[in-house]
Amino acid sequence: MRLIIYLDKLTSTMDIAHILAEKGYPHGTVIVAEEQTQGRGRFERKWYSPKGGLWFSIILRSKDLLIQSSFLGIIIGVSVLEVLEKFLKDIELNFKWPNDIEYNGKKVAGILIESIYEKELKYIIVGVGINLLVDPNDIKDLKAFSLRDYITTYDKNIVLIEVLEKLETNLNGFPHNWKEIFNFYKNKFPYIGKGVFIRNKNQKAKVIDMTEDGGIVLLTDNKVQKYEWGGVSLEFE
Ligand code: ATP
Repeated sequence: MRLIIYLDKLTSTMDIAHILAEKGYPHGTVIVAEEQTQGRGRFERKWYSPKGGLWFSIILRSKDLLIQSSFLGIIIGVSVLEVLEKFLKDIELNFKWPNDIEYNGKKVAGILIESIYEKELKYIIVGVGINLLVDPNDIKDLKAFSLRDYITTYDKNIVLIEVLEKLETNLNGFPHNWKEIFNFYKNKFPYIGKGVFIRNKNQKAKVIDMTEDGGIVLLTDNKVQKYEWGGVSLEFE
């Protein structure tokens, strides 16, 4: 059985998920919002969450806690994209390492992972935001893209349920399915060989490859440097 809590308007599904996790809500609890007033991205960046988007967070406990966030981030991204692809018409999406799905350099979806430790890992909150049926005018000031006119269903709930099911299958299949999942991601990561800008270092680099555990390999000033999943913030050219 799966507990899905639907709410109309709230600050952030991440905040509510943390509160419920602290109260002991079980593994697999999902919080969905029609609209978020304080949706967030990585490093407290703002995530605009108008009506029409699919905004949700999941509480993960139990054996999934053993999965490092690099694996988890990739597994979630792949699960979301595998499902979106079923409903897409006319366009193809790709990953923007580490945590985004985009179309033509514009962000379609973002993934956030927040792990809470108390001596050891207590729980993980996974956040997913998809510009599924968002009015493109509501996100026109961002480098963002809404799938509204490129999707074959107007039922957000169908997409949500399919993503949850796919995620469950992919998590249960880990680690045996890792190679397959990793290859899916890498095949849809078009930036290998391309230039990037490392934000916190104010430095240009070139993407050499991905590491087998979801990290990235960059070349800067003749030096090869590996970063774990999400370990660096990049602007892709
Ligand atoms: P990184 O690659 O380091 O994660 P990022 O710019 O992709 O950097 P995120 O934390 O993933 O940062 O996402 C937050 C950013 O996404 C915001 O700063 C904003 O530019 C953009 N953004 C906010 N809301 C939306 C939205 N609904 N759709 C697409 N992009 C958005």
